[in-house]
Amino acid sequence: MINLNTLPISVTDKKVTVLGAKRSGLATAVLLARQGASVLLSDSGKVEIPDDIQVNLVKNNITTEIGYHSSAVLSSDLVVISPGIPKSASIVTALESKGIPIVSEIEMAFWFMPEAKLIAVTGSNGKTTTTTLIHELFKNTQYDVYCGGNIGISFSSLIPEARQIVAEPKVFVLEVSSFQLERIIHFHPNEAVILNVTDDHMDRYEHDINLYLQAKLNIIRNQNGNDRYIYFADDPLLQKNLPERPYKLPFGITKNPDMCFTADNKNIYDSNNQAFIKRKDIALLGEHNLLNILAALNAVSGYGIPPAHIKQVLKHFSGIEHRLEYVTTIDGIDYYNDSKATNVDSVKYALKSFNKPVIIILGGRDKDADFSTLLPLLKQHAKKAILIGEAAAKIGKIIKSEIDYTIADSMQDAVAEAKHIAQTGDVILLSPACASYDMFDNFEHRGKAFKEIVYSLSGIQ
Ligand code: ADP
Repeated sequence: MINLNTLPISVTDKKVTVLGAKRSGLATAVLLARQGASVLLSDSGKVEIPDDIQVNLVKNNITTEIGYHSSAVLSSDLVVISPGIPKSASIVTALESKGIPIVSEIEMAFWFMPEAKLIAVTGSNGKTTTTTLIHELFKNTQYDVYCGGNIGISFSSLIPEARQIVAEPKVFVLEVSSFQLERIIHFHPNEAVILNVTDDHMDRYEHDINLYLQAKLNIIRNQNGNDRYIYFADDPLLQKNLPERPYKLPFGITKNPDMCFTADNKNIYDSNNQAFIKRKDIALLGEHNLLNILAALNAVSGYGIPPAHIKQVLKHFSGIEHRLEYVTTIDGIDYYNDSKATNVDSVKYALKSFNKPVIIILGGRDKDADFSTLLPLLKQHAKKAILIGEAAAKIGKIIKSEIDYTIADSMQDAVAEAKHIAQTGDVILLSPACASYDMFDNFEHRGKAFKEIVYSLSGIQ
């Protein structure tokens, strides 16, 4: 058996199975093999491994099994699990009944991280935006900075390169999801950012927001006196459930004497209550993004980054594709792509961001969300809802007494219907409050489809 109780942990000559052979699993397997482990990469699904990656797996003596889990999995010393595999999967229960330790990919990568500072960002919404902003703030400074996690580039895949570069100091900025935080032992960031905890992924957390919250709070579980956590002080769930520690740093709209940065309609203020930057000079729009900026400013506050550099970044960083992304204006109607709004709370912030009448495209695959909580903001901002996908009928039933709606069979029909009823001065907003997998490969595919339809309306190729 492997001793996981204290760091450093050695995997040399240990039998380690990596469950899940998608991008993060592949990088995990290679990292483990390079640390001397005997690695089995096992995925029961239909996964196509590109030829060049297959060559790399063979070169690193990694055994691969796709489409099944062999009995060898159950004789592992350690299993590293991909975040997409739920607790209820039969292979997980079989491993647990044999007492084989299972850790998440971020836990394993943490063991092999070079001397570096680690900043990790979690929350139901705003992770990618805030992680990317923090990364931007560190770029072109004295730091050698790496960005990854739940953001497309796994933590494991960053380690080999970072270990080769001797330049110091290093900073890793990671986006971490609740799934990744589920099986950690030692993982602890120097700066843990908790943006918010609202209803999401209830299908995987037995409809119990406390289970979801506890997974998120794992981000601070192993923090020590040299670490800090930064949290959204206006979030009622966090207010009630965060442990008291000397090294916590609140941010939010409601001012509080412990805050390092605060904001009003005009400015963001620093810890001396001096205006740091004018709100009108900030490129990233929306109240939700103000919160993300405050979180990011707190996260970088101990690192000596010149204020002039920070201000420059805030003046230029205008956000990421599919997050309340302005597409174009046709006949005085603004089109916005918020395909990444896969839960109810992000849609609330999207609606709050407009002071023009909104025609909203909602729907997709339901994650057992409570759509009724959208009603007050829909009533206030939406002129009409166009409903798509599997959740259309459920949403329609909930909103029918309050909001005019129609159901569309495709994104093409939804945009056409929205355009048909829109008038100059309106906004057409795709902000679905649902996952995309019923009609699209992922949220990027959905957002691109929406934009292509909009561009075709305007003649833009
Ligand atoms: P995540 O990585 O957590 O999904 P993103 O930055 O990709 O977060 O944004 C996802 C969605 O949430 C987008 O629709 C975005 O406009 C919205 N959003 C971003 N930041 C926040 C926030 N702090 N609170 C609520 N919604 C937000």
